[in-house]
Amino acid sequence: MNVMVVEDSRAIRNLVTAYVEEMGFRVLPAEDGAAALDLFSQHSIDLILMDVEMPGINGFEVTRRMRARLRNDWLPIIFLSSKSSDQHFIDGIQAGGDAYLAKPVNGPVLQSMVRAMGRIAAMRDDLVKANKELERMAHVDILTDLTNRRGFMAAYMREWARSNRDGTPLSIVLIDIDYFKGYNDNYGHLEGDACLRRVARALANAVMRPADVVARFGGEEFVVLLPNTDLAGASDVAERLRAAVENVGIKHEFSSVATHVTISVGVAQKRPEMAPELLLSSADEFLYKAKERGRNNVCSAPD
Ligand code: GH3
Ligand code: MG
Ligand code: MG
Ligand code: MG
Repeated sequence: MNVMVVEDSRAIRNLVTAYVEEMGFRVLPAEDGAAALDLFSQHSIDLILMDVEMPGINGFEVTRRMRARLRNDWLPIIFLSSKSSDQHFIDGIQAGGDAYLAKPVNGPVLQSMVRAMGRIAAMRDDLVKANKELERMAHVDILTDLTNRRGFMAAYMREWARSNRDGTPLSIVLIDIDYFKGYNDNYGHLEGDACLRRVARALANAVMRPADVVARFGGEEFVVLLPNTDLAGASDVAERLRAAVENVGIKHEFSSVATHVTISVGVAQKRPEMAPELLLSSADEFLYKAKERGRNNVCSAPD
């Protein structure tokens, strides 16, 4: 844990530093508010012990400025002050402090306070980590490990806005496995799941750019988001995806179009007047056309 000790009196600073180092923590000392703000922007700090009365910027003001920079983040700030009035305490909390210790500092009391605040900070770190992991999980399809529909929609809206802002093209590719019901019904659901995973991997491996998003849209449907890609480029990608799945060569004796698993693909590019739903339904329309035309093919335009 990195503990910043802000204190203009060298004697008190050394004393407080010794108490904190005794606990096994690293101390970053600052002799005034300006130095504290400097350290704050350069290092990752876990806890601050802050003198209130200092020449220049006082401890309350330093705290206010740090809190403004932290925005939604938090770290414990403990004030050290020789004033002990209720109002002083209230002002400190108002400024963004979390606790208050009266000077002269008592070593064991200071160490206990650091321990208690450190406990809360550690708990908060765990929560932040857990939240990040939950958010990641909320965007991943557990069967295929691809981005799920929720994750796709988030990326889709983000790229939609970017395309509007930068005037760059945006295309999507909608994919549906051919005769998958026959696959499932004959080979069983577990084999069906394994097939979905293999198709997912083939699709994910077939896109080239880091910004491309391959997602499971639902059931045996997949969608690929292609930022900065026009219809011609997207059609090339779509054909590559189709060939990639075909080349895996997953045996399918119950398909009417091939002896192995194939996909049908619809491609559409965003047009200026379009809403996000319309681009999706447009790709869906072309996917339907690809099915009509005999499956295992790519369709990107009306007849
Ligand atoms: P088409 O060529 O017209 O696309 O026909 P299809 O049989 O692929 O289409 P249909 O929509 O009739 O069937 C889709 C099937 O996909 C239904 C269901 O059995 C299967 N399916 C959907 N989700 C899953 C899944 O998560 N796991 C498995 N094993 N099968 C799934
Ligand atoms: Mg002082
Ligand atoms: Mg389907
Ligand atoms: Mg299908």
